[in-house]
Amino acid sequence: MENSNENKSVPSNFIKNIVIEDLQEGRVQEIHTRFPPEPNGYLHIGHAKSICLNFELADEFKGKTNLRFDDTNPVKEDTEYVDSIMEDVRWLGFEWDALFYASDYFEEMYNRAVLLIKKGKAYVCDLTAEETRELRGTLTEPGKDSPYRNRSVEENLDLFARMRAGEFADGARVLRAKIDMAAPNITLRDPILYRIAHVHHHRTGDAWCIYPMYDYAHPLGDAIEGITHSICTLEFEDHRPMYDWVIEQCEMETQTHQYEFARLNITNTIMSKRYLKTLVDEGVVHGWDDPRMPTISGMRRRGYTAESIRNFCREIGVAKANSVIDERNLEFFIREDLKMKAPRTMAVLDPIKVVITNYPEGQIEWLDAEVNAENPEMGMRQIPFSREIYIEREDFMENPPNKYFRLFPGNEVRLKHAYFIVCNDVIKNEDGEVVELHCTYDVATKSGSGFNARKVKGTIHWVEASLAIPAQLRLLEPLLVDETDNKDMPLLDRINPNSMQVVNGYIEPNMKDVQAGEQFQFFRHGYFCVDKEKSSEDVLVFNRIVSLKSSFDAKKA
Ligand code: ATP
Ligand code: MG
Repeated sequence: MENSNENKSVPSNFIKNIVIEDLQEGRVQEIHTRFPPEPNGYLHIGHAKSICLNFELADEFKGKTNLRFDDTNPVKEDTEYVDSIMEDVRWLGFEWDALFYASDYFEEMYNRAVLLIKKGKAYVCDLTAEETRELRGTLTEPGKDSPYRNRSVEENLDLFARMRAGEFADGARVLRAKIDMAAPNITLRDPILYRIAHVHHHRTGDAWCIYPMYDYAHPLGDAIEGITHSICTLEFEDHRPMYDWVIEQCEMETQTHQYEFARLNITNTIMSKRYLKTLVDEGVVHGWDDPRMPTISGMRRRGYTAESIRNFCREIGVAKANSVIDERNLEFFIREDLKMKAPRTMAVLDPIKVVITNYPEGQIEWLDAEVNAENPEMGMRQIPFSREIYIEREDFMENPPNKYFRLFPGNEVRLKHAYFIVCNDVIKNEDGEVVELHCTYDVATKSGSGFNARKVKGTIHWVEASLAIPAQLRLLEPLLVDETDNKDMPLLDRINPNSMQVVNGYIEPNMKDVQAGEQFQFFRHGYFCVDKEKSSEDVLVFNRIVSLKSSFDAKKA
């Protein structure tokens, strides 16, 4: 398996320790994991956690990892999701050793169910869903036996065959395991193994009208594939005895074991396909890969790199108890990754024109600037300068407070990579809004000339006006507002109305050939990524991946 995790070993965690022990003591010859998504939505950052854990663990110990689609619930599943999941796993840098679908095993699962019936370990039950629920009992009260629990083996075999043959309506009957209606663990109170659903399956078509339940299908899939460590999230801890029961009673040869770790939760982040699907269906976002979405495809479109996501998943570790990770951790890892890789460039978000009145008319000069001052290997770029430039409206104040070091009448500032300028005149329109600034420059102060006769306190960025490229810049915030305080409110009431603020600005002309997916650091504004779509005015669209400082610091500043 060729997975691009740069041979970084997985930091120590309790599952890794189990693997090491199993190998050392010879319980397992080769470790075999799997990532088992249900193809009912796009993968999110929580899935990335599970993907990294399964693939990296197997990788480190020269084992194998399968991708297995858990396609046992045909109503919600779709090949669009299958395709997106494969794309996302590969993009994260992993290649599975084998690809399977739970539906590959439907025949074998059926045969094992027949075996259970023959052993007196499963029965066909005619109770309605509501009656079943009523007899199940509670955490403090034992359940009661179904009146169908003691059907004969012959009758069960006959009814189960007829369920498969399509003789009964959806919900009319189920196949249940015969375990213990008084078990303290409710998942062992005769759980359902098969249900009737006359629905078309995206792979098996109309071949089946009975479908196995997760708790039955999952351990069988694991055993059939020879999975040694079946890693899942904490909410399945109570299901582990059922997992073991299925392996044992179905007489599976492979000894496979389930291990649970805490699912990843991130502040202000929705981590459930069901809710993410609601956002897509309700039009709150523009699709599963909307750059605000915590899906792998949304994060990719926003400009997150696979490395940054892998590093995040690896470094936050594998916990045994649920917790919530601060979203700023993710931001940290993408800044770390882009710091050395992303070219620097200047973008003016809310432009105001500056005329440099003592600069020759019609002249354009090309100034040298580093592509990335923190990584000299990236070389130099050339930026045009002329008599007319744009600066950021925010970088000028007519009546500045104390300690304002940017441009104001009479003040001198440095233009990044260019000259010092002084503001002499403020031009306003009829409404009193500032529309243009008239400045003069000092030719002696050219950047790189070693000029040090006087110093200025402020440096501002700019773009040359005649060659600047218009661009649309999307400033993104979390989709949810302060989730912790409002978590009992309906999802759609918790949407942050400012999750995408669109501003029009200008970027340097050397950006004209940038491609979708390329990342840049816009001086002072943060890291941005070229979107796959242009705006309705056919201009380049950039999504802000992350600001330069954490949002927390930025708010305070
Ligand atoms: P969702 O509720 O978002 O649909 P799921 O657990 O139902 O999630 P599956 O497709 O069944 O999604 O999950 C595939 C694998 O990913 C499972 O092993 C599951 O435990 C794991 N997984 C899902 N969400 C997380 C998460 N937030 N953190 C870690 N692992 C996760
Ligand atoms: Mg699920």
